[in-house]
Amino acid sequence: MDTHDAKLKHIMDLDSQYYLNTFGKRVPFCPDHGDGVWLYGTDGRRYMDMIGGIAVNVVGHARTELTQAICRQAGNVIHCSNYYYNEPQAELAARLATSFGGGRVFICNSGAEANEGAIKLARGYFYKKNSPRTKIVTALQSFHGRTLATATATGQPRYSEPFAPLPEGFVYVPFNDCESLKSAVTDDTCAVMLELIQGESGVRPASQEFASLAAELCKQTGARLIIDEIQTGMGRTGSFYAYEGYGIKPDIVTLAKGLAGGVPIGALIANEDTSTGFAPGDHGSTFGGNPLACAAALAVLSIYDQESLVRRAAQLGRDLINRLREAADDNSKIKEVRGKGLMIGIELSVPRAQELKHKMFERGFLVGAIGTSTIRILPPLTITEEELDIYIDQFIKSVQEDI
Ligand SMILES: *Cc1c(COP(=O)(O)O)cnc(C)c1O
Repeated sequence: MDTHDAKLKHIMDLDSQYYLNTFGKRVPFCPDHGDGVWLYGTDGRRYMDMIGGIAVNVVGHARTELTQAICRQAGNVIHCSNYYYNEPQAELAARLATSFGGGRVFICNSGAEANEGAIKLARGYFYKKNSPRTKIVTALQSFHGRTLATATATGQPRYSEPFAPLPEGFVYVPFNDCESLKSAVTDDTCAVMLELIQGESGVRPASQEFASLAAELCKQTGARLIIDEIQTGMGRTGSFYAYEGYGIKPDIVTLAKGLAGGVPIGALIANEDTSTGFAPGDHGSTFGGNPLACAAALAVLSIYDQESLVRRAAQLGRDLINRLREAADDNSKIKEVRGKGLMIGIELSVPRAQELKHKMFERGFLVGAIGTSTIRILPPLTITEEELDIYIDQFIKSVQEDI
């Protein structure tokens, strides 16, 4: 065993003895440092990061402008409480409100927290109108987070059942089932909360009909439309928000994952009317909107502007999906290629996704596997055409030779 392997083994031993066993057996890899789409492990090997920290590393690893912005802010002030104003928070709020076409912003620390805030805001909105509404409609197979309310909002009982009693008021409809949605949304519905591409359950896009119907029903009943863009946002699907691609407009949108390029952050953005759901004292967060995370997010957004990363995700994604679909035509082991922009699920016709993930790892590529048959990729939006060529070539080889 060489020293690199000894180091990894030491880390794995500590993890297995001391870390809560929430992740089971992980991929035997520990990054030491990165550069763009590449991660270098403690094993001394280089890997192409096609999962990007699950849609987090939007501008790649060790991106100079982001590192510098974080260091500069840390050298000035990392944290101050929300008793006071802070410049990066105010600037980021303005940026995000503009991206939403107006409204108000609350910044927190994670996706679950952003969705938790959105649920509270929607309930608070009706409470303040003196006509409380509690019912929140979500989709089966969705994923909205791990807090009690967001795990309950998640339409997969395995995430919430063991932790009962659960918050009340959540009702579920099968994703893309318009008839069920129609009967579920009534005059006492508080909110409809949806992902437009369900990420965690296999990269499954909402149909145009389902998305438009959700918007229409919310308009008719006054229910708030909450779109969870924690994974689909930040240009991932080729528009800054995936809802733009559907021609709908939510009352509340949530962001997290890629927003600060890897520094923990979450945000909810609400239109002016809906934002009245919170009055002073109703919501807050110690770390939420802290100067460090907000400075990182501003640096990420400025890289987006300089490099037109949203348009890039659209172009690269279109090309990548087309090429993967062509490969699927020639290879019976690939059943379907789903997704939009750089959020892509490749469903195999054989239940070997976990195996393929490990084989790709051996070839030097980090990809995700969902269930038994879907490979998921969420690469940095800064990935180059040449790097995508390398990935496609090796992925197709791996499908042909390894499984
Ligand atoms: C990741 C994710 C969340 C939860 O975000 P955390 O930061 O892990 O709390 C919620 N919704 C969607 C769609 C996600 O992809």
